[in-house]
Amino acid sequence: MLHTISGFDRIGEENAFAVLARANELAGQGREIINLGIGQPDFRTPEHIVEAAIKALRDGQHGYTAATGIAPLREAVSADLLRRHGTETNPGNVVIVPGGKVTMFMAILMFGEPGADILYPDPGFPIYRSMIEFTGARPIPVPIREENEFAFSADETLSLITENTRLLILNSPANPTGGVTPRSEIEKLVAGLERFPDVAVLSDEIYSQMTYDGMEHVSLLEFDSLRDRLILLDGWSKTYSMTGWRMGFSLWPDALIDKARKLAVNAWSCVNAPAQYAGLAALTGPQDAVRAMVTEFDARRRVVVDGLNAIEGISCRTPLGAFYAYPNIKNTGWQAKKLASALLEDAGVAVIGGPDFGVLGEGYIRLSYANSTQNIKTALEKIETFLQRSVK
Ligand code: PLP
Repeated sequence: MLHTISGFDRIGEENAFAVLARANELAGQGREIINLGIGQPDFRTPEHIVEAAIKALRDGQHGYTAATGIAPLREAVSADLLRRHGTETNPGNVVIVPGGKVTMFMAILMFGEPGADILYPDPGFPIYRSMIEFTGARPIPVPIREENEFAFSADETLSLITENTRLLILNSPANPTGGVTPRSEIEKLVAGLERFPDVAVLSDEIYSQMTYDGMEHVSLLEFDSLRDRLILLDGWSKTYSMTGWRMGFSLWPDALIDKARKLAVNAWSCVNAPAQYAGLAALTGPQDAVRAMVTEFDARRRVVVDGLNAIEGISCRTPLGAFYAYPNIKNTGWQAKKLASALLEDAGVAVIGGPDFGVLGEGYIRLSYANSTQNIKTALEKIETFLQRSVK
């Protein structure tokens, strides 16, 4: 009998990967499957970024780098944060990590233990809760409500903070809802947080460059009062269509940067060197591919929202960020996970059931519109036909 720690009785996972595996399995059997399940852009990484990695390999970048990342890349991250958020940062506080997910892993490990509470958005990215539970900390869901356009509420968030709260996780633009929290709400939250100086904040801004209808992304980095306790999570995966490269970056406050560096040294030594050079080319090179991708997502967003709202029993708010639609399916009479599974097995459309994103996810499904407009239209037709003839 092997005795692993009890955290493994509680650790969860990301069902989007299980759905992806099943979708691929069905496709392998010759079934026509449209995948609106997994959250990754359907574009190739821009060519100049790929070339930079190839060049780095040819130039002999084959060894370890500094654990926190190569200096020019950390400087480029600081320059990028200045360009996008108007905030000066020290490249010495930047850590290059193997994917955005790793920042949340590190931050939750730093603050989670039995007796500690960690607040996280629900519905939200499933790894937040999974990792909180792994550490033995108590996961406290911050409800993200449809009637609030899937923005978080400053008042509700602040009302959940207690003397046990160590870390508050925020995510805007958000997965799985596409919600973007407006400036007024963020300012209110930041003002309220001044009453809780011992609570650290992890701001997951991985979708920071994907907002629509003129909606601005407000980075928590803008607020001086948080700077000594803010962990910023961002990266290349979504913005530059680089999910498979495993490239993310985080910014740590002075009090945590050395702990973050030590975690890196203990776990992965450094991020793949050629990938870091690709990341450098992404930040310092032309940004038109990013804009083109967001424009394309915007067009598809309208197709998916209009199409969903035309289906009886489904209603869908217009998401203002990321590349997800999160329709309310309560009037179809289906339970969300059963519907997601039936849509994949019977209609050949992969989507994710809301409960995979939290205890408040029942009654919703998530569709990623990172797929061609034609595929999205076909998938919507299939969903409609399925609902018309199905029995629950
Ligand atoms: N944060 C959120 C909210 C996400 O949706 C994702 C990926 O889906 C990540 C972080 C992780 O991104 P990465 O693939 O860079 O690890």
